Amino acid sequence: MDSSSPNCSNEMTEIKTLTLSELKTALTELGQPGFRAKQVYTWLHRGVRSFEEMTDLPKSLRQTLAEYYLLTAPVPIRRQESKLDGTIKYLWQLHDDNCVETVLMRYHHGNTVCISSEVGCAMGCAFCASTIGGLVRRLSAGEMLDEVMFTELDSGQPVSNIVLMGIGEPLDNYDNVCRFLELVNSGEGMNIGMRHISLSTCGIVPRILELAESKLQLTLSVSLHAPDDETRSKIMPVNRRWSVEELLDACRSYYDKTGRRISFEYAMIRDVNDSPEAARLLLRKLKGLPAHVNLIPLNHVEESPLKPSDRAVVLRFQKLLEEQGVACTVRRTLGSDIDASCGQLRKKHAQQASNQ
Ligand code: SAH
Repeated sequence: MDSSSPNCSNEMTEIKTLTLSELKTALTELGQPGFRAKQVYTWLHRGVRSFEEMTDLPKSLRQTLAEYYLLTAPVPIRRQESKLDGTIKYLWQLHDDNCVETVLMRYHHGNTVCISSEVGCAMGCAFCASTIGGLVRRLSAGEMLDEVMFTELDSGQPVSNIVLMGIGEPLDNYDNVCRFLELVNSGEGMNIGMRHISLSTCGIVPRILELAESKLQLTLSVSLHAPDDETRSKIMPVNRRWSVEELLDACRSYYDKTGRRISFEYAMIRDVNDSPEAARLLLRKLKGLPAHVNLIPLNHVEESPLKPSDRAVVLRFQKLLEEQGVACTVRRTLGSDIDASCGQLRKKHAQQASNQ
């Protein structure tokens, strides 16, 4: 699929990828009066599963829409709820039978939904389960919106925050992700504010610079995981294309353009990136850049030889950063009883399907 097109699937446009003004144009072309667009848009963003459910539209229009447009509505084929903290993980089946995961996390400040941006991932990070089978395809803007909407509908939990930290690399699906942000932020839709959205990237530098130009008020999370090129290139192939220095320069531009503090993710991997020297080098590299470092205890992935750092090592690393005034938190592990780390459930499902 061409990631720059507003999503054609089997020649049919996915209606939910259209913005309100695009929908207006489309409906005018079908000879409809001006007020119809808002009516249809509202139905779509309320999570109807078929045009038939749009009960205040003339029957003939519902039929015409069904002829011209694809209305996506993923089916939850797995739903796992953590007994420990109420985290819910969904495995959604998409219209072409591909699957993606979404996780709903309950925090004091509201419910956060972690969405996937691609089916699989091309980035090849050594510790990540999502990339094992490579990239299958990119998600459309409407499919990302579906993850948020149908998670809210199915769980009955209102969603106030979104993180693009599930399967896939959001900046590898740039146009569709930007379109998704516009849709989910729209006042006539879910109306989720940009400040309530975080986007996580492995470090695709030109796209970070492009995103900076759009001056969106979202939080940029950068998966750094190592402060030096030698280590980072070993665990993240993307670093062979854009070095740590190029990445951090892009982060500085991002901060200069948007005024938004960058959040750095750092998975603590035993004997790979967790030494006091690594912490000191990280401090030097982040000097002058308003940042927040989020240490993530590595989630062990079966296929990978990498192991999580000991708790004491994580805390020592955190202390070294904090002593020098860098904000640093250790991510709380949610849903550890339900494979809530990204890519694990989809991988398990694919393995089970191939064993049958
Ligand atoms: N492609 C994006 C978002 C996907 S993953 C990115 O790379 O940022 C969200 C975060 O989880 C990233 O920081 C990623 O590096 C991290 N991650 C992936 N697998 C992990 C694992 N097994 N343990 C801990 N963190 C992991």
